[in-house]
Amino acid sequence: MAHEEPDSMSEDSLDWLEHEGSLAEVVDEERMQDAAANAWLAAEEEKYVAINDSDSYLAVGGAEAGSVVAAPPAGLAPTGTSRAPAITGRDVALAGGRPIYLVHRGARYANFLPVVMGDLHHKKGNSLTVGAIANLPSAKAQTTSGFFRQTSVAALRIADPQCYRLDDKVLRLPPKTIGPQVLKYAPYLADPEDSDWLRQVLDAQRAVGANILLTPGRALNPDDPQRSLDAAFQEADRALALSERGERVALNLTIPSRWLAGGALRNRLLDEILEQDQFDVLYVRIQWAATKAFAPTEDSDLLMGIRRLANLCGDEGRALLLPQTGITGWLALAHGATGYGLGVSGSEQCFAEFAFRRGRPGQQQAERYFEKQILHTLDRSALDPVQSAPGYLSCDCSYCPALFDSQPWSQPLAALHHIFAMGALTAKVHEDSMRGGRHAAVRRIVSSAKRWSSGLQLGSDDVPRHLAVWDQAL
Ligand SMILES: [Zn+2]
Repeated sequence: MAHEEPDSMSEDSLDWLEHEGSLAEVVDEERMQDAAANAWLAAEEEKYVAINDSDSYLAVGGAEAGSVVAAPPAGLAPTGTSRAPAITGRDVALAGGRPIYLVHRGARYANFLPVVMGDLHHKKGNSLTVGAIANLPSAKAQTTSGFFRQTSVAALRIADPQCYRLDDKVLRLPPKTIGPQVLKYAPYLADPEDSDWLRQVLDAQRAVGANILLTPGRALNPDDPQRSLDAAFQEADRALALSERGERVALNLTIPSRWLAGGALRNRLLDEILEQDQFDVLYVRIQWAATKAFAPTEDSDLLMGIRRLANLCGDEGRALLLPQTGITGWLALAHGATGYGLGVSGSEQCFAEFAFRRGRPGQQQAERYFEKQILHTLDRSALDPVQSAPGYLSCDCSYCPALFDSQPWSQPLAALHHIFAMGALTAKVHEDSMRGGRHAAVRRIVSSAKRWSSGLQLGSDDVPRHLAVWDQAL
């Protein structure tokens, strides 16, 4: 696999839940820990499988893993034993027959993401649709288009313009979200007043190969609701007018959680969405209060708001995509959301309000493992009582054997396991939906996680407290 130079740590500028230590320490540690993942990758055989209903092949191992090719390289016969499902087109994907699983390209381990996306499509592609999200301000256009090329299993390619970075008066963002590096990658962020601004935002997405365009998605201000809604919808309408034949445009909204927590504000937002039915795809990013990294929100008002939003979209046949929500987005599949996004960092599991945290010098990156049987990410030190409990099923992903074999703990392998395991859970919602639809499927998974985890001896930090709230909300 081609290892490109990291663009710069500016990619991590929004990754505030993760690095409490200095940036330099994070980088050094990653270099060291890449060894285990690189060794794993090098040991993986280069393999190609035929794709159903097409003349193409999917690379499922080796340097090109995740990409679709016209033919395997000379001398390499395709593996005869298995085939990959046909790759869904954008419009079929958005029709929502299968849940959409969006993988965010973040600063960490981006080179490994195509591997797991190809793997997921190969093994679970009949039950989920894989999509890719890359943030325009985080990397060179060339890097982003290269990522999209290699993740050609993705039915949706979203180049997020992240124009909400301009809205530090409405959102709680870390300082300097628009520095010189960001302006180099996303020059449109320099002047939103420019008369040609909207076209620049759309062109930047087109240039890297996005196959669905987002409106700018400036943050909606809960203190000035009507004006803010009007401005966002006017801008979105103008973006729609600038779209060309064959293009699809998603209404991109960025909202502080107050909009969904209840009362008049929630009703106003939902009414407005209901009325603006020219948008059949919604891409909604919600900022909520930071919790412990990787712990989903337990805020029942917010969960109810997400439920109402998803219900509305489900009832009206609109595709609701919830980027940057992690397992909270997975829960929303029960209520009518079409898809959700997650990445490998804590900040990609939720768009959390920024809170200043003092870094401790020499602090190590936490060693976490997503445990799908309890729908929770645990510290590695808490795994023993879980994995030795009766009824425990070990993960059957391709990364876990190497992960549990390697010393030190391999952050990239743990991340690949997380992405794969959440993908498998997403596919399970589809597979189990024959009885009672997706709602019933999610409820069964949550209930069984709650039941099983109640018998475990876990420290107070590791208890999956969200499950009780979720169980109630379902
Ligand atoms: Zn695993």
